[in-house]
Amino acid sequence: MARIETISVQGNYKPQSGEPRVVPIAQSTTYKYNELNQLADLFDLKAAGYFYSRIGNPTVAALEEKVALLEGGVAALATSSGQAANTFALLNILKTGDNFLLSSKVYGGSINVFENTFKKFGIDVIKFDLDSSAEEIKALANEKTKAIFGETISNPTLEVLDLEKIVSVGKDLGVPVIVDASLTTPYLLRPLDYGVNIVTHSSTKYLDGHAAALGGIIVDGGNFDWNNGKFPELVEPDPTYHGLSYTETFGNQAYIVKARVQLLRDLGSCQSPFNAYITNQNLETLHLRLARHSENALAVAKFLESHKNIESVNYPGLESNKYYENAKKYLPKGASGVLSFNIKGSIENAKIFVGKLKLVALVTHVADVRTSVIHPASTTHRQLSEEELLEIGISPTLIRLSVGIENVDDIIEDLSQALDF
Ligand SMILES: *Cc1c(COP(=O)(O)O)cnc(C)c1O
Repeated sequence: MARIETISVQGNYKPQSGEPRVVPIAQSTTYKYNELNQLADLFDLKAAGYFYSRIGNPTVAALEEKVALLEGGVAALATSSGQAANTFALLNILKTGDNFLLSSKVYGGSINVFENTFKKFGIDVIKFDLDSSAEEIKALANEKTKAIFGETISNPTLEVLDLEKIVSVGKDLGVPVIVDASLTTPYLLRPLDYGVNIVTHSSTKYLDGHAAALGGIIVDGGNFDWNNGKFPELVEPDPTYHGLSYTETFGNQAYIVKARVQLLRDLGSCQSPFNAYITNQNLETLHLRLARHSENALAVAKFLESHKNIESVNYPGLESNKYYENAKKYLPKGASGVLSFNIKGSIENAKIFVGKLKLVALVTHVADVRTSVIHPASTTHRQLSEEELLEIGISPTLIRLSVGIENVDDIIEDLSQALDF
């Protein structure tokens, strides 16, 4: 079995003699067949192959295989965005009347879809505090609870989930643990190694890592027993495929096959071959980028921590951080590139700081090679009152910084001149 750096570069792509060295873009919606019964078998899921790019495409498949290998999973499904990946990951196993346990610290877009859109479908969330004990979290569940969802490092609050604790809750409840690992990537942390069942990514973030392609991906660990009475849709006959049972026919790939042939078929949030091509290529440097992002972010965090105009720094790689022990355990190779900090004084100082930056750019994004900054109180979270902001841990002077892979001295010099007031 190849190591993670080798998988990042080569994936599972093995061109035959005379074929392109780089995974080509199959920019085609459809595929030609010689025999009608070949195509009929594909429609019946009796044979594997491509027939329409909404459900499968060779370039997208190369990305799926690479990310499944990187995560140590059995199969993966790429989607049009991270939002679609998280939506599918849950809708694949939940229906009206069900609920799932949701970490209270997750990405704002996830809160929107889970608490508002899912609610309209009759799917409820039960929020848990990631600092609660396994017993406390377990006690929140009921017989309609079908999954647990959290983020490895939460965006933007940067808390590190205790995977072993959450996995023990999942095991006791007989429900899968799903984690969004967008901020860590399989280079820094492989959640499946700790018993997590499903991993999702906004590949828009570090997997692409260049702010060039939107995308999402779901990876199945193949390590959950769907036949435990709680997930009949994976076990019982699907009338839209002549009564086929996913677990019987596809074994430990049942979850991903079902997501593909039901959700991707019906809801259509497929990834474009072009975006898969870009993401697959940019994944070739995943190991180099994440090592440098983490190294630069730690140096920047230490610089900020000692600066006279900085009130506090939040980075799980700092010894002073509440999640340092979790980071040491789960993120030994580095704590990724995103950090946040509070500037001393008022909101005006935060605005002056952002205005003076030259190299560091103001953008609504994290996790790409260029260092970027945002002031949540006046942008992403501007609809909230000061009280509401404080409730979710965002003070008016908070700055979020996504540290890139430029020379770290240049990044620090730019921050330093902007903090000079
Ligand atoms: C950005 C992000 C998402 C949403 O991904 P999109 O690709 O923007 O749809 C989901 N989860 C996390 C942790 C994110 O950072």
